Amino acid sequence: MRLSGEQLFALFVVRENREYDCITVRYMSESGSQVVRIPYAAILFECAFGESASLLSLTEVKLDTGWFVPREQFSGSKRPVVQSEAEARLLKIFHEEGPMALASAKAISFVRALDVDDEGYWHIEGLGRMATVVGVKLDPPGSEVKSEEVIMMYHVQELGLGCAHCGAEMQLGRCVFLTDGGFEVYPCNICEEWVWVYPDNYEEVE
Ligand SMILES: [Zn+2]
Repeated sequence: MRLSGEQLFALFVVRENREYDCITVRYMSESGSQVVRIPYAAILFECAFGESASLLSLTEVKLDTGWFVPREQFSGSKRPVVQSEAEARLLKIFHEEGPMALASAKAISFVRALDVDDEGYWHIEGLGRMATVVGVKLDPPGSEVKSEEVIMMYHVQELGLGCAHCGAEMQLGRCVFLTDGGFEVYPCNICEEWVWVYPDNYEEVE
């Protein structure tokens, strides 16, 4: 999806190198990954995700060498930004709820099951590994249930548990998360669903 005018000034990048007056970043364009230097003066807000990704909010700035104009840099005819579904969801949070909603990453439950690798890290397509799901809050199915915080992760060691949505069997080695309320939850690697296993003492709300 190509970024439109309103969204132009916020985009996801991979941080490559920091210099004294600018940061070198990589972003996804219609013709593949591109490297560009962004002057610090143009950065209104940065929210780091994981080891190397950031969401940058950018503005126009006048430099000795001329203007840096995000609109021209990232949506001009040369190499326009493209964003994955995951980026679109995070940018929506940023635009609708503001920077703090992103900054408090532990309080957002946007992680898609399909984007989680076997080591329990979630990814953004084209930008790579972000952060562990441990510490993230996820919403169990059922409106009566509050968000559950993931407190630890382990790997599937025996077969037998299936996905209620697509029927696929949970694979050995797939990550399973334990929440503070005693739920086990794992990301199905076939469909897009989180599979919730209720604690023994839990009375399900119909
Ligand atoms: Zn499934």
